[in-house]
Amino acid sequence: MLKRSTLPLRPRPAMDESIGGFLHRLFSLHGHHIPEELTRALCTSPHQSAFNDFGDQFFDLPSDAAWLRAQHRLKSAIPEPWRSRRTSSPRLCPRCLVERGHHAGYWALPWVTVCPRHRTRLRELCLCGRTLYWATLEMNWHCLCRRSLLDDDTAQSTALNCRLSEVIIRRAQQHPERLSAYLAWLHFTSQLVSRLQPAKEKSRGPQLHLEVLSQPLPQLRQWLAHGIRATYTQPGGGVHLPELGKQAAGHLALDFAA
Ligand SMILES: [Zn+2]
Ligand SMILES: [Zn+2]
Repeated sequence: MLKRSTLPLRPRPAMDESIGGFLHRLFSLHGHHIPEELTRALCTSPHQSAFNDFGDQFFDLPSDAAWLRAQHRLKSAIPEPWRSRRTSSPRLCPRCLVERGHHAGYWALPWVTVCPRHRTRLRELCLCGRTLYWATLEMNWHCLCRRSLLDDDTAQSTALNCRLSEVIIRRAQQHPERLSAYLAWLHFTSQLVSRLQPAKEKSRGPQLHLEVLSQPLPQLRQWLAHGIRATYTQPGGGVHLPELGKQAAGHLALDFAA
């Protein structure tokens, strides 16, 4: 197995650099694509075993450990519905990549669609229409069609998307240890709130998520209790929570308790 310590060039990862982004930068410096076994490891579910495999087998420099742990925590915090897509497909801010030289892990978080530094939408597609994948990215941030993905043609974002991206990223920076619970909570609560709203007033997307985030906790508790009863009450009057609901409700209890 290839080891990072055996490569001739040894750039250091930036603390907020994504694992995929660092591998892309590292191998581009050596004139190679990311080896297939590493892109496979990158795209698998980031549970502890994958972290150990990845850490032990390739990242064997002691200086990598804190960064790798932080980035794995970030990846693990992404709730299941988004995880496989967000770990296999990079999204990026071309201007940040040019100015800072590395790909930020925060860009993979759900609901983060905008770069808060530049207030532009993160790029998920090449101009040729291809979706970006770590596995097929050409060296130095080029698409398979040879276009540079760093060309600055990014679209301005809406204010709502920008605000939501800022809120999520700030949360990830300030409370990384509680990010997983926070994202699961936001996902679960937003789904329930959207079911409870009358059809005419239904808010969606960033507006819905910002509304949920702006509510005081007692109001949310009330909505949730009502939503859980309305959604999961059985004909006999008992409440049956399916597995996913239980998990999210557990996170919720933790988040409220803390
Ligand atoms: Zn940017
Ligand atoms: Zn292309």
